[in-house]
Amino acid sequence: MLKENFKDFFETLKKLGEVHAPVRRGRLFSFTKVDSPGEVALNYNRTMLPPKKYFVKPFEEVLKIKVGKGYELIVEEPKSLVLLGLHACDINALRVLDSVYLDEPQDDYYQVRRAAAIVIGVSCEPDEYCFCKSMGTDYAWTGFDLFLHELGTSYLVRVGSSRGESIIESMSNIIGEPTKEDFIKLRDLELKRSRMFKKILNTSLLPDIVDSLHESEVWVVFSDKCVSCGSCNLVCPTCRCYDVTEKVELNLQEGVRVRRWDSCFIRSHALVAGGLNFRPTRLDRFRHRYNCKSSIDPRTNLPFCVGCGRCSAFCPAGIDHVNVLNAIWGLA
Ligand code: SF4
Ligand code: SF4
Repeated sequence: MLKENFKDFFETLKKLGEVHAPVRRGRLFSFTKVDSPGEVALNYNRTMLPPKKYFVKPFEEVLKIKVGKGYELIVEEPKSLVLLGLHACDINALRVLDSVYLDEPQDDYYQVRRAAAIVIGVSCEPDEYCFCKSMGTDYAWTGFDLFLHELGTSYLVRVGSSRGESIIESMSNIIGEPTKEDFIKLRDLELKRSRMFKKILNTSLLPDIVDSLHESEVWVVFSDKCVSCGSCNLVCPTCRCYDVTEKVELNLQEGVRVRRWDSCFIRSHALVAGGLNFRPTRLDRFRHRYNCKSSIDPRTNLPFCVGCGRCSAFCPAGIDHVNVLNAIWGLA
């Protein structure tokens, strides 16, 4: 597809649903509703909040409770959504979330929103925080409908689903057939991109190494800098912990159940009935997060960290995810 056709492409997407894409906000980028192609910043490094926010809301009411009348689920009408401009790491992160939320028992809130969303990926170049190449998540094979690979003056449009196939069939006047030269260009650009990664994480045997070096001083050194703010969890595209609480009206007759994103860095995360906290110290919580992020999801064989670099880029204490794990790996 020639870049000059992007405007028509965008206008056709608008007919399929509300289009949300990365938009510049000062020095940051954010996935936001867009009405015109000029607002879209396809050439971005990362958004602060991941696309996860569309499927598991940071805060939402899930059911109403009334004394004597039981409860009623709060189910929203599915809204057609076009998510334009996801990077390969974020597409792979959605696959991890799918494996968690769509496994039995399925999370219906997630499923309804996910089924109503068209996902369109876009190619990118790594910056100083990206390490998706180390995690094997720098390319999206599945988990999207269309993927736009920038080839200078055009995009090579890759199809990832039958829905994507129907979309491009309806745009045959905008999107032409890719040529052999387009694929040669794509191969060369992918090779060039692969050489651009500066941040490399040593991943061989990583889950076992992290587990066996549980008592290492390295955890103490890094966790001493951590202020337990939980930002690294909130910006992470694969973090999936949430908290569920009830808000009761003053009349004590009705209320709502809410769920909101939670963070394993917050002390109350591991607080259970009876007052026991099974991760009482910051050191315990710090180690736990790295244990989780070094593991592999057995359902997808994808790592629970996709190397997007958000946790390092937005940590107020300047703690770099790769530096912590490479320090541990170096001890093995
Ligand atoms: S963002 Fe940094 S300071 Fe905040 S909890 Fe995570 S590691 Fe600690
Ligand atoms: S742990 Fe950090 S680098 Fe890995 S997916 Fe989460 S935010 Fe991205």
